[in-house]
Amino acid sequence: MDGFFTCRLTFRQKGAEIYEAKDGFENMCGYCRDRGYAPVLVFLGLASISCRIFEMAWPQGGKDMKRKVKQLLLTAAGIALLILVVSSFVILVFFPDMLPSASKTQNEASKELFAMDTYITMTAYGRDAETALTEAADKLAALEQLWSVTDPNSDIYAVNHGEGHPIRVSEETSELVSFALQMAEETNGALEPTIYPVLSAWGFTTEEHRVPSETEIAELLGNVGYERVRLEGDTVQLDNGMMLDLGAIGKGYAGDLVAQVVQENGSTSALLNFGGNIQAIGTKPDGSRWRLGLRDPFTGGTLGVLEISNMAVVTSGNYERYFIGEDGKQYGHIIDPATGYPAESGLVSVTIVAGEGRLCDALSTSLFVMGLDKAAEYWKQHPDFEMILITEDGEIDLTEGIADAFTLDSYHSNMRVNVIEYE
Ligand code: ADP
Ligand code: MG
Repeated sequence: MDGFFTCRLTFRQKGAEIYEAKDGFENMCGYCRDRGYAPVLVFLGLASISCRIFEMAWPQGGKDMKRKVKQLLLTAAGIALLILVVSSFVILVFFPDMLPSASKTQNEASKELFAMDTYITMTAYGRDAETALTEAADKLAALEQLWSVTDPNSDIYAVNHGEGHPIRVSEETSELVSFALQMAEETNGALEPTIYPVLSAWGFTTEEHRVPSETEIAELLGNVGYERVRLEGDTVQLDNGMMLDLGAIGKGYAGDLVAQVVQENGSTSALLNFGGNIQAIGTKPDGSRWRLGLRDPFTGGTLGVLEISNMAVVTSGNYERYFIGEDGKQYGHIIDPATGYPAESGLVSVTIVAGEGRLCDALSTSLFVMGLDKAAEYWKQHPDFEMILITEDGEIDLTEGIADAFTLDSYHSNMRVNVIEYE
């Protein structure tokens, strides 16, 4: 869901003054080169090489002469070094504006594409940012090919049409399925990776929405049950009639894998936005935290700003993908597996903040199903994430670990905010 979007203005404004700190020698060389000190480094190098050549040419004689030249060169090198240190200090302290923009080493690259049924925007910084994003897009395309429910060549399609036989899948798919089953277990079935038959009956898979009858739902629920998915090594086996749908965790899981690709390509600062699922790598290039706007589920505007670094942020809600039935009721795409009906838990939006996108995505969907009280209980027992919940009656409940990072927009300052605390 589009719960989050980046505050582009702030982001771009600062974008002009970015500098990515690098470690050790690479950092020093890059720094010197950018500031025009390359000639000094070359001079120091030439000085020491000259000494060496002189020594080799006159190994025996001209000892005095050799010493003098050596002293001269060393003195010149020393002076050059002194000038370099003093001028760096003066420029850095008194004339920082004279420094050339660090964007010479720190490219910004952006990519927009449509994949996994959603709009994706990726921005990365670093010398090889362009390559990083090209590889990220390739990775995404490869994952989509594996996990699509509709592509007859995908792993998931093969499993869903395996007619009860074990189907060999790729490593990524078996890990995704394993994670889905683990989270289904943890959330006591609120996350139900085999909900697909019910979801289809509601028309969410084809956009031909309808309200199925109670008997139809009851019958279809007979084909739902994560406990009956058999994952053994790299094979997945479903009972005939069962189907996997990893839509609730696929984007978050892909976010983690794509973020890994971006980092492997040397970018330590990047923001990946998978239709509102955010994967923030490091900080903004200027070292400050990323500023993300939390969407107001009632108006579509901004509710507040969340400042984070090196985190994933995922929002789920029933306010974007829904339909209005002939009975005038609103039906959303997150299904309560206990009933087979769209979840009506009193929540309109659930935002999860954690180190891994996969965890955020799994929990955003399942805690939405659980509702406020059960979600708060779950959080107290699983301290590896933070959350912001918005209730139907316009109240915000957020966990204490995220409270300081979230600022409510001034237009919404009348909204009630409760902080959920460990007891
Ligand atoms: P989005 O994919 O729109 O960002 P979610 O991450 O919350 O939102 O995933 C919702 C999708 O997950 C639905 O469109 C459907 O494919 C699937 N789904 C719906 N209900 C459940 C559920 N209880 N457990 C697992 N998957 C679900
Ligand atoms: Mg989800």
